[in-house]
Amino acid sequence: MQKKVEIHYSEAECIKIDAQNKKVYCLSNDKTNLKGREEFAVDFDYLVIAVGARPNTFNIPGVEENTLFLKEVEDAQKIRKTVIECFEKADLPNLDDEARKKLLHFVVVGGGPTGVEFAAQLHDFLAEDLSKLYPTIKDFVKITLLEGTDHILNMFDKRITAFAEDKFKRDGINLRTGSMVVNVSDKDISIKDIKSGSISSEPYGMIVWSTGIGTRPVMIDLMKQIGQGNRRVLATDEWLRVEGSDTIYALGDCATINQRKVMEDIADIFKKADKDNSGTLTVKEFQEVLKDICERYPQLELYLKNKQMHSLVDLLKASKGDIKESVEVDIEEFKSALSQVDMLMKNLPATAQVASQQGVYLANCFNRMEECQKNPEGPLRIRGEGRHRFHPFRYRHLGQFAPLGGEQTAAQLPGDWVSIGHSTQWLWYSVYASKQVSWRTRALVVSDWLRRFIFGRDSSSL
Ligand SMILES: Cc1cc2nc3c(=O)[nH]c(=O)nc-3n(C[C@H](O)[C@H](O)[C@H](O)COP(=O)(O)OP(=O)(O)OC[C@H]3O[C@@H](n4cnc5c(N)ncnc54)[C@H](O)[C@@H]3O)c2cc1C
Repeated sequence: MQKKVEIHYSEAECIKIDAQNKKVYCLSNDKTNLKGREEFAVDFDYLVIAVGARPNTFNIPGVEENTLFLKEVEDAQKIRKTVIECFEKADLPNLDDEARKKLLHFVVVGGGPTGVEFAAQLHDFLAEDLSKLYPTIKDFVKITLLEGTDHILNMFDKRITAFAEDKFKRDGINLRTGSMVVNVSDKDISIKDIKSGSISSEPYGMIVWSTGIGTRPVMIDLMKQIGQGNRRVLATDEWLRVEGSDTIYALGDCATINQRKVMEDIADIFKKADKDNSGTLTVKEFQEVLKDICERYPQLELYLKNKQMHSLVDLLKASKGDIKESVEVDIEEFKSALSQVDMLMKNLPATAQVASQQGVYLANCFNRMEECQKNPEGPLRIRGEGRHRFHPFRYRHLGQFAPLGGEQTAAQLPGDWVSIGHSTQWLWYSVYASKQVSWRTRALVVSDWLRRFIFGRDSSSL
C-alpha cells in the first residue's frame, strides 16, 4: 500500500517534542505571514530527528557574546562582514599602530579539521586578496590559531599533523598549542598556557570559535522525557532508534549510536550459541552463529582485524591454546577469550559522511518496513527470539580530507593511506564536486571555484 507523506512546513522550527503523546510542536517561519510566527503541532507515527548540533562553548565566560561561530550559513556571512569591517576600520587615517594591530588580529579557537581549514582559508584570503586591496596595512595582519592539546588535527595521522603545523609556521600563522581560552571580553581574549599555568591576554579584531559541538535545547528536553537526562548526547541503538522510544529515530550530529558491548551480552551470546544446552560450546556450534554475532557486534571484526586473526574461532583457539574442532569452551573460557573485544569501540565522528549514510540507511528501512516485518533480514536477536527486522547501520569510512590552504590538502584514506600536497587538492576538488546533491549545486560550486581562480575572492561587504 502506498502511504501518503505529508509535508507540513518546509521552514519551521521545532520547539518541543512530546515523545509520549507523539506530537511535535513547531513555530512557523513563514516570512509572508503578517501575524508573525505561528505555533502549531504535528502528530506523528514515526519521527526522524536530524536537527544537527550547536557550537560548544564549554560555558567559558564571554564566548557567546564576543566570538563568531562557524556552523550555519549566517555565521559565514557574519565572519565575512566582520573581516571586511576590520580592514575598513584599520585603514582609517589617524589610527595608531597598536589599534591597527588589534583590529587585524584574527583569532581562531580550535585546532580540529574545521578550525584548521578556516585558519588556512582565512590566511589565503588575507594574503592573496585583501593584502592587494589594503597594501598599507597588510603588515599588521596576524592570524592566531589556539589549540588546547599539544597538536592540531589530533584525529589525523601524525604525518598530516606535522605537515600542517610546519605549513602554518611557514605561512606565518601564529600556532599556539597547549593554550586554553579561559575568558573572552569585548576587548581581549585570555589564554591559559597549560604547561606553565600562566594566563595572558591578547587584544583581537575577530575571534572565530570552533571547538566542537553540543546538544541543542530541544534535544536536551527530549532526553529528559525519555530517561536520557544524564547523557551528553541523545543515544540511539544500532538501528538508529532512540533508546527509550519505539517510534523516534535520530541521525547525524544530534545523536550517537550506543553500540552494545559484547561483555554486556556475553551470557546470552553463549546461551544462543549453545544449542544443545550442554553448558559448553563447540567450535562447530559457535561457527553456526558467528555471522550473526559479527553483524550484531561489529567491534568483534575490528578486534580480529587488529589481532590479524581470520575469524572468532581463531580467537577461541588462541585463548585456549591450539584447540581442535571437537574441543569445547565453557562460559568462563568464552568470557576470557572475548574480554578485550569491547576496548576498540569508538563513537562515529560528527561528519556529513556519517549523517548522509545514516539518512540513506533509514530511508531504505522505512521503504521496506512491511516487507522486512514479514521476512526479517537482520541478525539473530541475542536476548530475544527470532531475528531483527533490519540489518543494523554500518558506517563505511571513505576517508577524510584536511584542506591546508595554498592549494594543498592532506587526505587520510581507508587503509591509513596518507596523501598530502597539490595533487590531493585536486582529489579534494573532485570529491567535493561529486558529493553535491544536484547538478545545479555542482555547477554553482565549480563556477565559484573558477571565478575565484580567475578574479580572486569576492571582498565586498554583504
Ligand atoms: C564549518 C564546517 C565544516 C565541515 N566540514 C565537513 C567536511 O568537510 N566533511 C564532513 O563530513 N563533515 C563536515 N562538517 C560536519 C558536517 O557539516 C555535519 O556533520 C553534518 O552537517 C551533520 O548533518 P546533520 O544533518 O546531522 O545536521 P546539520 O547539517 O547541522 O542540519 C541540521 C538542520 O536542522 C535544522 N534545525 C536545527 N534545529 C532545528 C529545530 N529546532 N527545528 C527545525 N530545524 C532545526 C538546522 O537549521 C539545519 O538545517 C563540517 C561542519 C562545519 C560546521
